[in-house]
Amino acid sequence: MPADVLVVGAGPAALAIAAALLEQGLTVEALAAADPEAPWANTYGIWGPEVDAQGLEALLGHRWSDTRSDFGAALTPGAVEPGVVAHGIDYGLFDKTRLQQHWLEQCRAGGLRWHRGLAAAIRHGALQSTVTTQEGLELSARLVVDASGHQPVFVQRPDDGPVAGQAAYGVVGTFSAPPVQPGQFVLMDYRCDHLTPEERLEPPTFLYAMDLGGGVFFVEETSLALAPPVPYDTLKQRLQRRLAHRGVQVLDVQHEEFCLFPMNLPLPDLGQQVVGFGGAASMVHPASGYMVGSLLRRAPDLAAAIAAGLRTPGLESASVARLAWAALWPLELRRKHALYRFGLEKLMRFPEAQLRAFFANFFAMPTAQWYGFLTNTLPLQQLIAAMLRLFVTAPWGVRWGLIEPRGRELALLGRLLWP
Ligand SMILES: Cc1cc2nc3c(=O)[nH]c(=O)nc-3n(C[C@H](O)[C@H](O)[C@H](O)COP(=O)(O)OP(=O)(O)OC[C@H]3O[C@@H](n4cnc5c(N)ncnc54)[C@H](O)[C@@H]3O)c2cc1C
Repeated sequence: MPADVLVVGAGPAALAIAAALLEQGLTVEALAAADPEAPWANTYGIWGPEVDAQGLEALLGHRWSDTRSDFGAALTPGAVEPGVVAHGIDYGLFDKTRLQQHWLEQCRAGGLRWHRGLAAAIRHGALQSTVTTQEGLELSARLVVDASGHQPVFVQRPDDGPVAGQAAYGVVGTFSAPPVQPGQFVLMDYRCDHLTPEERLEPPTFLYAMDLGGGVFFVEETSLALAPPVPYDTLKQRLQRRLAHRGVQVLDVQHEEFCLFPMNLPLPDLGQQVVGFGGAASMVHPASGYMVGSLLRRAPDLAAAIAAGLRTPGLESASVARLAWAALWPLELRRKHALYRFGLEKLMRFPEAQLRAFFANFFAMPTAQWYGFLTNTLPLQQLIAAMLRLFVTAPWGVRWGLIEPRGRELALLGRLLWP
């Protein structure tokens, strides 16, 4: 008997969906390229209320209440200092071992069967699909969920132009002086007074930084998104310049982070017989880069749709897959995805002064609006209202940047109507 579902991958998306499918009482197998217990390389951040809403706050390794951003000379309504915005919402960093074990334990309890190998080919039949690994293993299931990351092995998506990458270079270590205030988390420090006027014409980058306790800090120079991405060397040099300008030297490097992932991937083809989840299904928030909150929220709905499809007598695998895709990417989410991609396309064109002014204005919105925007939890109408508010309250320079249609922006906006 083939399993109900075969999940390809062993990252956050694979574990989240496997756990949710098992919760539905389905038989689930998973194919991992490496040991599924091997520690993940990435660190995952998330807003406090997102984990609280799931009752998973115990999975955080760090949590900050003093959360802020600094937009330099752009004066911000409600700012605690010129340019500084206190966010008033907790931010957390997952303890990645705890997060991984949380899902792995659910998988063990539900009876998940692991296979090892690199998925290489897929064959679709009416009532099942068969994955062949590079090593020659054949695995059949009534449905295959591809959670193999941003460059999926099976999920197909259209090519609609350059894909922007969020790139960052970070250091966990000790410093000659605190790079951020003790106990603080800084989402975006966009100050650029350490750069020459010529350098300020280059793509803007910001500092993402936090106090990890015990005299250890994490500082990361980040480019929101760009195609092609900002090179690591540039980010590293900018981080060193930024720290030196504030009189801070790195004393000891405990870990270096090289981060690069696609931000504005188009939606996958929703008619294909293999279903995607996570990076494979373009679930990264195209404006903020976050995904884990979305995995936690959306896995149960996708799993419920798959279970309902598989329990419908005689329903072919292709039809189950269509039901699953429709549950993962319903019209409202597709429209929001279109709006976010349009927004990011705009922001990528903004020079630094305009970008700082934009973000200062963004975080001056009521908390519920900017938080809902960044976590993709606002209903479509409220998202549109937030974007209109941003436009109306923006300084003129920003407003013109938002109106001026360039490149594929109009085509992306068109997807709001025809996603
Ligand atoms: C450094 C870094 C920091 C990030 N920080 C955050 C953050 O703070 N918050 C956030 O929400 N997002 C963050 N992201 C973005 C995104 O959430 C991550 O990239 C996330 O890991 C994607 O999860 P995934 O499970 O879809 O894919 P992956 O984590 O890439 O996992 C893919 C899995 O599939 C397996 N696989 C791949 N190909 C095959 C194959 N052919 N056969 C079998 N298995 C295969 C891989 O071995 C792996 O187990 C970050 C990304 C990076 C790179």
